[in-house]
Amino acid sequence: MKPATCRFCAAALELSFADLGMSPPSNSYLNPEDLNRMERFYPLHAWVCEKCFLVQLEEFETPEQIFSDYAYFSSYSDSWLAHARAYTHAMKQRLGLGPASFVVEIASNDGYLLQYFVEQGVPVLGIEPAANVAAVAERKGVPTLVKFFGTKTAVDLAAAGRKADLILGNNVLAHVPDLNDFVRGMSLLLKPGGVVTMEFPHLLRLMVESQFDTIYHEHFSYLSFLVAERVFAAHGLTLFDVDEMPTHGGSLRIYARHAINAALPVSTKVAELREREGAAGLERADTYRAFAEQVRSAKRGLLKFLIGAKEAGKRVVGYGAPAKGNTLLNYCGVRTDLLEYTVDRSPHKQGRFLPGVHIPVYAPERIMQTRPDYVLILPWNLKDEIVAQMAGIRAWGGRFVLPIPETRVIE
Ligand SMILES: [Zn+2]
Repeated sequence: MKPATCRFCAAALELSFADLGMSPPSNSYLNPEDLNRMERFYPLHAWVCEKCFLVQLEEFETPEQIFSDYAYFSSYSDSWLAHARAYTHAMKQRLGLGPASFVVEIASNDGYLLQYFVEQGVPVLGIEPAANVAAVAERKGVPTLVKFFGTKTAVDLAAAGRKADLILGNNVLAHVPDLNDFVRGMSLLLKPGGVVTMEFPHLLRLMVESQFDTIYHEHFSYLSFLVAERVFAAHGLTLFDVDEMPTHGGSLRIYARHAINAALPVSTKVAELREREGAAGLERADTYRAFAEQVRSAKRGLLKFLIGAKEAGKRVVGYGAPAKGNTLLNYCGVRTDLLEYTVDRSPHKQGRFLPGVHIPVYAPERIMQTRPDYVLILPWNLKDEIVAQMAGIRAWGGRFVLPIPETRVIE
């Protein structure tokens, strides 16, 4: 089963990018009473469009099913909060935002970012489809509209005189089923002199570093800069600047403006990145075809390590319960016989079980009580933070292990 046509350019999809088998939706954490019930599994198979090179999944569930009781609260990661705060200060200065400006964040989560604009006296509106998460934002003083963003919401806001000076979205572009409707909506909501910034994981880094575990059902599109440029240009928006950032294993922050707004010149970084992606082969089908073997090799490496550790009588547990861990463990077939349990700081995940593989999730203290030999870091993008928090494991000779780009013990 493959998606019939490209979600951006509608060309037929023929080229397989990564086939990760059958997998449950990565945020469907289970309660103890769910363990004896049937679970939903869907093919987790990414394809690449040979005409526009958008890497994409087919949509199996409606966004309403996936996001209405979303367990991910952005505010549980210290490094992510610091990133958000730094962004608001930089943008306030760069765009000269003040009390007369209007900032809209799409997928504003629990107000983790907009709270810092509110603090600086800049009017904001969050747009967030998960009602339970939006309620937390409202309690922080962040006005939040419980809705999915698209052309319709944009037209309604624009008609109410609420066009934006800044529209931002972090890790939302990749999650949008109707990419064209979403980008067109931003174009309609943006003031003539306004700026859009979007952050998303960079496909170039995903490919170079074998980050196949960042492929999950909720994540419909995997974008290079070149593809993002094509999508925005189709809706009258020009990418005039770009930052490369370490978040989520390597992300891009793109800056867009109306194509006719020549007051904001195009940075030299744009041509430089375009050239680098071209040199890496991102405009050639063969490059995408070669990725499949990288994925299979990473799986063999993880299984070799886990089986070797078990045969040597070692205890291995996980750290973190991120969506990417669910992709990795389901694709590799790792259950409690190879990984006893995992831990997570989020109380929303503690006491629950990972979907598909049924690995229990405890509070981080469990590691200090059970003293395992190895701790496999599932949110490898937060490696430094986790190694610092959990440095105590070294007291009994415990060691950290990373699964991506290939399994290795951290010395
Ligand atoms: Zn296409």
